[in-house]
Amino acid sequence: PPGVHVLDISWFTDSMREGKPVAVETRHLIQDAFEVLAENYEFNEMDGSCLAFRRAASVLKSLPMAVRSLRETQDLPCLGEHTKAVMEEVLRCGRSFEVEKLLSDERYQTFKLFTSVFGVGPKTADKWYRGGLRSFSEVLADRSIHLNQMQQIGFLHYGDISGVVSKAEARSLRNIIDEAARATTPAAKVALTGGFCREKEFGHDVDFIVTTPELGGEETLLPKIIDELKKQGMLLYCDYHPSTFDINKLPSPKFEAMDHYAKCFLILRLEGSRVEGGLHIAEGDNRGWRAVRVDLVSPPVDRYAFALLGWSGSRQFERDLRRFARAKRGMLLDNHALYDKNKNEFLAASTEKDIFAHLGLEYIEPWQRNA
Ligand code: ATP
Ligand code: MN
Ligand code: MN
Repeated sequence: PPGVHVLDISWFTDSMREGKPVAVETRHLIQDAFEVLAENYEFNEMDGSCLAFRRAASVLKSLPMAVRSLRETQDLPCLGEHTKAVMEEVLRCGRSFEVEKLLSDERYQTFKLFTSVFGVGPKTADKWYRGGLRSFSEVLADRSIHLNQMQQIGFLHYGDISGVVSKAEARSLRNIIDEAARATTPAAKVALTGGFCREKEFGHDVDFIVTTPELGGEETLLPKIIDELKKQGMLLYCDYHPSTFDINKLPSPKFEAMDHYAKCFLILRLEGSRVEGGLHIAEGDNRGWRAVRVDLVSPPVDRYAFALLGWSGSRQFERDLRRFARAKRGMLLDNHALYDKNKNEFLAASTEKDIFAHLGLEYIEPWQRNA
């Protein structure tokens, strides 16, 4: 009360409090093991199992204390037979043999390598793997392979894009996007979203929501920003998707479906920056700039709160929030709207707080949504 907290696990932690202190390490071992297994299911396009392990990892992450025995995890939600078996093995032996086998498995290693390229998903990785390819040089030397533009750019900037983006770089990019937006549309509003709005130290890209105070003004906003970035010589790659948003549509219960706002997936040239921990395969090292992935999405201003809540993440948090809305409240939530099935009406919101209130949930800040 006044609402139920989505991640409320106090019932569990209370029952754990009697125990003696232990190494925190074990939980990380289990989480890492779950992550490897989830990744492998993703490579094999077994979405259900993948999600089960991601969810289990997320549950462990939310626990304020370490896990010591299987008995302690009995009442935890989202843990199935397989996840429990892995956990038990790690608790007993300090390692999971299934995971170790995977880590040294040629197929897993190759998929991990290939899917680390921008524009290469499990399907392409599978095609290349079945074609006998095992390394980047083999892929690049194979004349029968046609790389699409995204993959070409992915290989070209592999070293930069596979490196992490820092908070400082996210800040510089914020200023750049801010200026590009306001140079063309003075009233434009830019908000940092994604991992960096959850106070993460590093990210794989930087996400922004851009909109205008006037409804409809957002329609030309992205193309204008893209033009401006191009004029400044910053645009290395742009994959622009115009809006397909339909105000009459009910929110989609499927989380994995992309939202319908105009958006673009960019690679920008960021001056005065260097990649840390990246591998350079195509370019020299002392360039004084780096390539970085940036996502821009531009919802109409009256959908701003839904877009912000949807893009703030984490993905697991978003999934759980939608599931909670549907299962516990009879409401449909997505990046565009909230629909109350009991009253058969859309619920308007101008802030994230409004949406939490509609759902009867206590508001939590983005940094508390790192599920
Ligand atoms: P990272 O540091 O890895 O970038 P992140 O949380 O920012 O972490 P992203 O993949 O950038 O992860 O996604 C940010 C948010 O944007 C997620 O919550 C996701 O739901 C949303 N999102 C990403 N791509 C799309 C898309 N195409 N359509 C709708 N929502 C998307
Ligand atoms: Mn991101
Ligand atoms: Mn993103």
